[in-house]
Amino acid sequence: MSSQATPTLRLMGIGASPGVAVGHAFILDRKRIRTPKLRLAEAEVEPERMRMKTAVDLSDRQLAELKDQITRTEGSDHALILEAHRLMLHDPMLVDAVNQLIVEDRINAEWAVRRVARKIKHLFDNIPDEYFRERRSDVDYVADRIIRNLMGQVVDEEVEVPAEAIVVAHDLPPADAAMMARSGRVAGFVTDLGGQTSHTAIVARARETPAVVGAGRASEQISPGDLVAMDGTRGIILVNPTEEQLQSFREEQRRHQEAEQVALATKDLEAISTDSFRIRLNGNMEFLEEIPSLLAHGAEGIGLYRTEFMFLDRKTAPTEEEHYRAYRQVLEAMGGRPVTIRTLDLGGDKVPGKTKHEKEPNPAMGLRAIRYCLSNRELFRTQLRALLRASVHGNLRLMFPLICGVSELREARSELEACRTELGRAGLPVGKRFPVGIMVETPSAAIIADRLAQEADFFSVGTNDLIQYSLAIDRQNREVAYLYRPLHLSVLRMLETIVGAAKAANIPVSMCGEMAGDPLYTLVLLALGFDELSMTSGQIPAVKRFIRRVSRVDAAELLREAMELTTAEEIERFMRTEMDRRFVDTPDRAPELTGDAPSGRTTG
Ligand code: PEP
Ligand code: MG
Repeated sequence: MSSQATPTLRLMGIGASPGVAVGHAFILDRKRIRTPKLRLAEAEVEPERMRMKTAVDLSDRQLAELKDQITRTEGSDHALILEAHRLMLHDPMLVDAVNQLIVEDRINAEWAVRRVARKIKHLFDNIPDEYFRERRSDVDYVADRIIRNLMGQVVDEEVEVPAEAIVVAHDLPPADAAMMARSGRVAGFVTDLGGQTSHTAIVARARETPAVVGAGRASEQISPGDLVAMDGTRGIILVNPTEEQLQSFREEQRRHQEAEQVALATKDLEAISTDSFRIRLNGNMEFLEEIPSLLAHGAEGIGLYRTEFMFLDRKTAPTEEEHYRAYRQVLEAMGGRPVTIRTLDLGGDKVPGKTKHEKEPNPAMGLRAIRYCLSNRELFRTQLRALLRASVHGNLRLMFPLICGVSELREARSELEACRTELGRAGLPVGKRFPVGIMVETPSAAIIADRLAQEADFFSVGTNDLIQYSLAIDRQNREVAYLYRPLHLSVLRMLETIVGAAKAANIPVSMCGEMAGDPLYTLVLLALGFDELSMTSGQIPAVKRFIRRVSRVDAAELLREAMELTTAEEIERFMRTEMDRRFVDTPDRAPELTGDAPSGRTTG
């Protein structure tokens, strides 16, 4: 019950895993340990290095054990995070640097670990991509473990979380989040640190546990046992809410649960219009942990696997074996459903380890995606070989990002064929030929889509970049975010050209940019004739509902009228009004339809 005598405290954070939860706060106090700082005598240097080695070995064994435990109970997806921590533990950037400090600066191992961790985190700070920045907490997690082991402290204590608790922590290691979410006792997570793409957020989303991260000093402001109402969609936390607020949260919770029920109930239904136009709804993914949630929400395949996210937590590129294992896992988990794997969209800002002065002045227009791979052939070939080998395990479709012209596509394809021949010569099994498509995400590709369609097996439209490049708005720049307008006439005309070219060449056309997952655009995409749309798991049910309620003929008429208008504002207003008119009586109509214009994903 709410303690009315205590004033309500309202905190804001980042909504990281949707859903509403009400419960009593359980403060997880795994405070950072104080690092002892000592100077060493010369004779102490070698024993100190040995002490460091023992602590690293012990940490490795502990992580391996945790990983086994999680694999047994959670499946192997969550365990990948722990594997990433193990890799970090052995990264020369950490271990060699610590040993060097012990030898050269004659400082104790704990102090050296802390100093090196700070330095690595500083490198992450300078990477503009949010995901890479979030890896700082993983560095702390690994460093804390080594230091605790150096100091002989207890690690991995099982925490007994009371039922229906809201777990509040300064930072929550993903292993803890996974274990607690698994126990089924946690109603929600609140953390001071973290962002949308922190591992804890990903684990929470995969477990469908509401989470608010980046909530400032929440772990200090909330006391154990406080009644907490939290909204993981809007990032709101109310501490000691009033009876009225509590009721409204419970109402929201009920609505969310109902929507989830609808989502699960529609899981196996086809996305088909009332006049029988069928669209395939696929899932976008960055991490293997997302697969169970995608399947639960009815993803019919993977429409976009952003493989560059495998470069996280590390300074060295993944080996061919690591690539292969990840692709095999997705293909097997999807059990014969199509899996579209995009080759690395690295480059520009998305190169871990690049120092500030090496950065290109205009990375979005620099050596990125397919351009980066074509100028880093060994990196590209490693991935292609792994993809060819993994293709025996499922229904693979391969796609190249940021293709601007036919020569790039030819060059990428010929590299793929060279790898195929090489593997064949080495006697390694390679699957049958699979479709090789391209992302259409530059105005150049859109304009020559007819020519590209002669040589690509499918198109997937990346509106995040297509809009960035055609409307000349940097997707990382908040100042121009208001100009992100998927219904801009220029965008609609380009989409028409792309779909028309695909149809003429008889190849499938999909969309995997954020535009695909927003119900405001569903009728437009249905009218345009997209065969497939790919989005995050939570977006699938709403998009499906809209497709199932309208006819393609009606949608086409709407699009025709919309395209007679001129400004993006006019077209948006028209679409909102028409959507409201059509779906006003619908009880479960998507809240997005009444909200502001979507801002779109702005990273990458
Ligand atoms: C896009 O550009 O729309 C897309 C899906 O790719 P990314 O967001 O990874 O650049
Ligand atoms: Mg893109």
